Amino acid sequence: MNDQQTPKDDRHAVVIGAGIVGTCCALYLQRAGLAVTLIDRDGPGEAASFGNAGALGLASVPPLGMPDTLWKAPKMILDPMHPLTLRWGHLPKALPWFLHFTLASLRSRAEAIADVRADLLGRVNDSYAPLLDDAGAKDLIHNAGLLMVFESDRSRAEVEYALEMRRRRGVKIEELSGDEAREMEPALGPLIKRGVFFPQVSQTVSPLRLTQTLAQHFQNRGGMLRRETVKGFDFGPDGPKGVVTDTGQHDADIMVLAAGVWSKFLARQLGTRVLLEAERGYHTVLPNPGVDIRVPLVSEDRHVTFGPMEDGLRLTSMAEFAAIEAAPDYARAERIFAAARELIPGLDAEGATEWVGSRPSTPDSIPVIGPSPRFANVLFAFGHGHLGLTLAAVTGRIVADLAQGRRPETDLNPLRPDRF
Ligand SMILES: Cc1cc2nc3c(=O)[nH]c(=O)nc-3n(C[C@H](O)[C@H](O)[C@H](O)COP(=O)(O)OP(=O)(O)OC[C@H]3O[C@@H](n4cnc5c(N)ncnc54)[C@H](O)[C@@H]3O)c2cc1C
Repeated sequence: MNDQQTPKDDRHAVVIGAGIVGTCCALYLQRAGLAVTLIDRDGPGEAASFGNAGALGLASVPPLGMPDTLWKAPKMILDPMHPLTLRWGHLPKALPWFLHFTLASLRSRAEAIADVRADLLGRVNDSYAPLLDDAGAKDLIHNAGLLMVFESDRSRAEVEYALEMRRRRGVKIEELSGDEAREMEPALGPLIKRGVFFPQVSQTVSPLRLTQTLAQHFQNRGGMLRRETVKGFDFGPDGPKGVVTDTGQHDADIMVLAAGVWSKFLARQLGTRVLLEAERGYHTVLPNPGVDIRVPLVSEDRHVTFGPMEDGLRLTSMAEFAAIEAAPDYARAERIFAAARELIPGLDAEGATEWVGSRPSTPDSIPVIGPSPRFANVLFAFGHGHLGLTLAAVTGRIVADLAQGRRPETDLNPLRPDRF
């Protein structure tokens, strides 16, 4: 959309958080004609949006909580190196979240959640396209597909329900033998016995550069980007009329809370309690992996993903429930590398870097998108868990619709902030 086509709207919107979600919200609000200020205490895309696996996960219909998650839970809790873990000291605080997670994992709920996710996922490409086109950033995302690999018929059988859940919602799936998987990705070693390919999944070559490029485009179009820490809201007789930061105040007609996992603290200041946990994930980037990986991979047996990116091969894994500020446990990142090398012999760790970040996760694997229950001029846009990169542009479009008083195409009821 060029400037001649931009509608006029005299209102000022402030977006809190310049992760991929907040940045897409800011761009969509700007395209709707509002004057927009985007605030982050750091640079754009430097928190969770920095270190993710880079997939636009169009096949990620199944939620984290599935019926079999419940019977796998004891192993998860007892094994400190399991890919899904909980730091015990954090349990009392996280208990309400886990109770909701348990209910959300029941079969009927998981199916209903999969419907919501499938609906959102169906809007991903159309929502990103105008942002990437306008920013000249189409080269940052490419349709690479995703190859899921298995070391036994048993591990393949364990995902049958999750595959079937996808199939019933139109996700394209190609079944492969071990040799066919190796033909698709010759770097795979002999351990691989089966494969499943998801051709619709796309991949970014750099999650950080994607957010930075979109944020730069936002500024080029006249948007204000501020490096400040939001402390709270300026309340008038009718509710919040601006945000207060460490250096001043920004008056606003509309406020968007897109501060990732930290959103829960600001939501609380608005009188809303949301169930949001830091589901921490680790990555290791191998700048010179020594092996050329063509296709993004995920190992079901070892819970490791391999994402070829412009700065090297990114290995990601682990869902660790812990306090946001808890010290990283980099033994986990080292374990990712050890597991990866068993699948791809010859991987080279020279110069590897490690990172930990917090997925902002709700117990039902559905983001929180919609007006604050108390104040209609504050829109919530957080809680995207494993799908923040994927659903950022969809979220931006919904937020802009709401800001303009338009009914979004998506049913917002399952996403509403007061559902917990
Ligand atoms: C290991 C790993 C792999 C992942 N892989 C994928 C994947 O392949 N595909 C996918 O779709 N998703 C993936 N995710 C999830 C995805 O990264 C997140 O869902 C997404 O980045 C969340 O974006 P966000 O903008 O909501 O949050 P963030 O990126 O965390 O941004 C929130 C921003 O708010 C700012 N902020 C917070 N509080 C304040 C304040 N008071 N004042 C000012 N600024 C503030 C922070 O500085 C931060 O920049 C992965 C996550 C991890 C950890």
